[in-house]
Amino acid sequence: MSVKPTVLKLGGSVITDKGKKLTPNLPAIERLTKEISRANVSSLVLVHGGGSFGHPVAEQYSLAEGYKDSSQIMGFSMTHQAMTKLNKLIVESLINHNIPAVEVQPSSCVVTKAGRIQIIEDRPLRKMLEMGFVPVLYGDTVFDSETGFDILSGDQLVSSLAINLNAHRIVVGVDVNGLYTGDPKTDSAARLIRHVTLEELKKLEHRIEGSKVTDVTGGMLGKIFELKPAVEQGIQTIIVNATESNRVYKALKGEEVVGTIIER
Ligand code: ADP
Repeated sequence: MSVKPTVLKLGGSVITDKGKKLTPNLPAIERLTKEISRANVSSLVLVHGGGSFGHPVAEQYSLAEGYKDSSQIMGFSMTHQAMTKLNKLIVESLINHNIPAVEVQPSSCVVTKAGRIQIIEDRPLRKMLEMGFVPVLYGDTVFDSETGFDILSGDQLVSSLAINLNAHRIVVGVDVNGLYTGDPKTDSAARLIRHVTLEELKKLEHRIEGSKVTDVTGGMLGKIFELKPAVEQGIQTIIVNATESNRVYKALKGEEVVGTIIER
């Protein structure tokens, strides 16, 4: 691929109201699509989380534990359906801002093995990028060669795609300013880490707490765990607060911005 793509992740905590089932944050979606449009990145892949669309039903049916009994089958369908609803809102908003967005449905192009991506059919996606489209993927219910099915987090997808597509940069938008020494929502002494290497991260990790909000795929610690392989490949990764105006825009442009840069 001639132009190295940027992979942007928009967290479920940003684009939905995580406290209210199936509730999108439409003003945030609208503002972020405007920022993406203004940034005018030459090659972009977007991945979004599930927030209150994906997680409540997935949890109710214990989908992350794999297939145990037939009662979960409807749960799988309902979780996937909820995710496609959220995806449509985002794709529609992008199209309204003149971005040629196209949904790429992870449940139809990814197979996991014990929760880790085993197969990813990325040929349509590569072709889309080559032609200037913006593929939009999301954390999704997927089929698993060992456990039947699983929940694939947007974060695992981001890392895997970034490595696969030899990405230039990963931008991760969350609802806090970046990676802190503790959860900034519960620990008033938590400090924002502006820059961290993998080596420094190793020393910090045992002190950094995960997210306590209902999230079947792991919170901030889970995010860091997933992003590390991409950083190891030399892909610069920046975590920014996507609830604040212009942070995603600046990160996409490579401008100086409040956030956490993770580097090799
Ligand atoms: P999303 O669903 O948007 O991808 P998560 O809610 O899973 O993101 O993870 C982000 C959340 O993790 C933040 O809202 C924050 O409350 C929590 N969190 C826990 N520990 C930390 C930490 N050390 N630094 C930053 N955020 C943290």
